Amino acid sequence: MNHLNQVVENILSSKSETWLITGVAGFIGSHLLQVLLQQGQTVVGLDNFSTGYRNNLDSVKNLVGSNNWKRFSLIEGDLRDLKTCQKACEKVVVVLHQAALGSVPRSIKDPLATHQSNVDGFLNILIAARDAGVRSFIYASSSSVYGDHPALPRKEDSIGRPLSPYALSKYVDECYAEVFFKSYGFATVGLRYFNVFGSRQNTKGAYAAVIPRWRSEMINGDPVTIFGDGSTSRDFCFVDNVVEANLLAATAQQTQVEGEIFNIAFGEQTSLSELFEIMSNLLSRRAGVNKIKPVYAEFRQGDVAHSVADISKAKELLGYCPSVSVRAGLEMLLAENT
Ligand code: NAD
Repeated sequence: MNHLNQVVENILSSKSETWLITGVAGFIGSHLLQVLLQQGQTVVGLDNFSTGYRNNLDSVKNLVGSNNWKRFSLIEGDLRDLKTCQKACEKVVVVLHQAALGSVPRSIKDPLATHQSNVDGFLNILIAARDAGVRSFIYASSSSVYGDHPALPRKEDSIGRPLSPYALSKYVDECYAEVFFKSYGFATVGLRYFNVFGSRQNTKGAYAAVIPRWRSEMINGDPVTIFGDGSTSRDFCFVDNVVEANLLAATAQQTQVEGEIFNIAFGEQTSLSELFEIMSNLLSRRAGVNKIKPVYAEFRQGDVAHSVADISKAKELLGYCPSVSVRAGLEMLLAENT
């Protein structure tokens, strides 16, 4: 992490609390773990290693050092089991709920698995957190919730119909969160992430996101596929910005954020053709990576054509101010050797 928001850093350095990160061995969860341990916090992690990696935890251990690592404990277990969620929430003050099965294509292939982890699992952790009396419950939602709504940029209050089981699962989570606030007074904060990228993101297989997939294909000299004609656009957001948003939400005045949902993005639209250009230029400066040409394939079912966020609500209520641009994030990521 480059630099942490000063307000967050001051709050974290003033007290050490116990945090639960679900999906701790995943991409975003492992970045949250790294920063919280570096900031002197105690962290319980829950993961079933379905899409997360032990390597991610090993990398964090190396980065934070063995003294900080002592404040981490791992529960290898499944969200789909209520008892496991109850155990994970014991003595926890803040929950950062990241665990879910990501990927639109995966959810189209296996909607039941997506539903079980993303909806049943969400309900279990919500019940466990409510019953344990946690102070803050922050959860990862997704820009896919905007579905077929035509308006750009995306504003939190205007969503359309979901276009995939994954989008539906995240929408149901938001509905459960709202109902728990109304029915039990249990307040949560939902963060709708837009295309997050950074180190420790899964690069393999059909369900990998575009940036890690292209990075690995470009480095290995494999064909690089663009789905559609390249005009498809996304609001790519470097992972440090997402970590910051979570910490801002967790340390904000409760009355300011409770029950709210926020877009978390950089706030800029980049087409796949532009992304390809930036990445191939950055990588062709690297020895051994030759000029790369894309291969075009059919637009993927369930994907939206364009996506860009209005982040003014997060700026205003959370003090969110994404400090790493898409280009700066790509430069950092592509400079890494792994
Ligand atoms: P990831 O796949 O790297 O991490 C998810 C983690 O959750 C993995 O470690 C996995 O093993 C774990 N997990 C999955 N199902 C589980 C279960 N039933 N019980 C316990 N652990 C389980 O994904 P990520 O990119 O880090 O995403 C984190 C969250 O952010 C997810 O909720 C995802 O839907 C959401 N999100 C991510 C993006 C993005 O661009 N990466 C965009 C929008 C939303």
